[in-house]
Amino acid sequence: CAQKYSGLVEDCCCDYETVDHLNLEVLHPLLQELVKTPFFRYFKVKLWCDCPFWPDDGMCSLRDCSVCECPQNEVPEPFKKQSSNTLSSDDLLCQDGNPQAVVDRTIDTKAFRGWAEVDNPWTYDNETDDGDMTYVDLQVNPERYTGYTGPSARRIWEAIYQENCPKYPDEEACPEKKILYKLISGVHSSVSIHIAADYLLDDATNLWGPNLTLMYNRVLKYPERVKNLYFTFLFVLRAVIKAKDYLEQADYNTGKPEEDIKTNSLIKQLLNNPRLQAACPLPFDEAKLWKSQSGPQLKDQIRKQFRNISALMDCVGCEKCRLWGKLQILGLGTALKILFSDNDSHDIGLTLQRNEVIALINLLNRLSESIKFIHEMGPAVEAVTHGQ
Ligand code: FAD
Repeated sequence: CAQKYSGLVEDCCCDYETVDHLNLEVLHPLLQELVKTPFFRYFKVKLWCDCPFWPDDGMCSLRDCSVCECPQNEVPEPFKKQSSNTLSSDDLLCQDGNPQAVVDRTIDTKAFRGWAEVDNPWTYDNETDDGDMTYVDLQVNPERYTGYTGPSARRIWEAIYQENCPKYPDEEACPEKKILYKLISGVHSSVSIHIAADYLLDDATNLWGPNLTLMYNRVLKYPERVKNLYFTFLFVLRAVIKAKDYLEQADYNTGKPEEDIKTNSLIKQLLNNPRLQAACPLPFDEAKLWKSQSGPQLKDQIRKQFRNISALMDCVGCEKCRLWGKLQILGLGTALKILFSDNDSHDIGLTLQRNEVIALINLLNRLSESIKFIHEMGPAVEAVTHGQ
C-alpha cells in the first residue's frame, strides 16, 4: 500500500518510511525481547495516592481495571536493597544557574556511577519514598481496554490539554512551545491505539481483539494525532541514543545471571545497531532548541507544566490506567531530562533511577507497538471505515 504519511516527521530528522522500516525490522523485535527480561518487566509504582487537584472520584471497580501486584519473592533481590554504589542527592554538586546555558548533543561520558536516588525534576512522583511503593509485573498487566471512560477520564485529559499543554496554532514558529503538546498528544494516541488493538469485543464470551472502528475514530481519522505519535517515538528514541554510554554501562543485575547477560546483550544490540546508525542517526536534534534569550524561562515553564501533568496521574480513577499513565509519563520525563539537561550540568553527569530507565524503555516499546499497529492495520482500518 502507498505510504500515507511521507517526508520528514515534523521537527525531526527522519522520514516516515524509514521510521516504519526501522521499527518493523530492527527496533520492535529488540524492544519486545527487552521488555520481557526480568530487569525491564518489574516497575516500582505508588498506585494509591490522593488526587492533589480535586476530591477523588474513587477507583473504578471494573474487572479489567485491577492490577495484579507482584508477590515479594518475585521481585528481583537487587531491586529491594539499596545498592552500595547508589547515588543520593548529597553526591551531587550544587551548580550555579547559568542563564546562557544551552542544550548540546552530548552527555557526560563518565556515564554510569550507580543507580540514582534523586527525584526527576520533570516529574511529581517522589520515588524515593518507598513506603507505599509496590512492584508490578508489566507483562501480566498489559495496557489494553479497561472500560474506564466517562467524566473521570474526560476530566483528566481536559485538565492536561486545557491547563497544562495548550495547542499552539500551526503558524507558531517557536518549536519549543509546541513540544509538550506534541509529546502528550503522541502518548495519548498510543494509549488509544492500545485500547483499540486489545479491546473487549464480547463481554459474554470474554472475546478480545482489535476494534478497527475505534482505532479510526480515536486516532487515524486525525492525521495530526498520527504525526504526533511518530514525533514522540523519535523524541524518545533520541533520548535513548543520547544516553548510550550510560545505558551501556548500567547495572542490569537482577540476580539471574543468564537473563542479565541477555539484557546487556539486547541493550548493546539496540544502541549499536548499524541500520539505525546508518538510516536515522539523529532522530531528533535537541541542540537546535533553547538558544533564544528566553530559552531558560521557557524551559522552566514547560517543566512546571509537565510536573502538573505527572501529578494528574494520581487522579486517574482506574488502577491499570494509572499504572500505565504513570509509567509513560515517567518515561517521557526521563527523555526530557536526558535531552534537555544543560551542558553546564556535565560536572554532575547524567544520573538516572533504575525505575526511570525501566519506564523509558517500556515507553519506547509502547510507541513502537503503536507505530507497528498503524502500519499493519492501517489498510484494514481504511477498508472498514471506508466512506466515513
Ligand atoms: P479520550 O481518549 O478520553 O479523549 C478526550 C479528548 O481529547 C477527545 O475528545 C479529543 O478532543 C482529545 N484527544 C483525543 N486523542 C487525542 C490525541 N491523540 N491528541 C490530542 N487530543 C486528543 N482506558 C482504557 O481502556 N485503558 C487504558 O489503559 C487507559 N489508560 C488511560 C490513561 C490515562 C492517563 C487516562 C487519562 C485515561 C486512560 N484511559 C484508558 C481512558 C481513555 O484514554 C479514554 O479517556 C476513554 O476511553 C474515553 O475515550 P474518549 O473517546 O472519550 O476520548
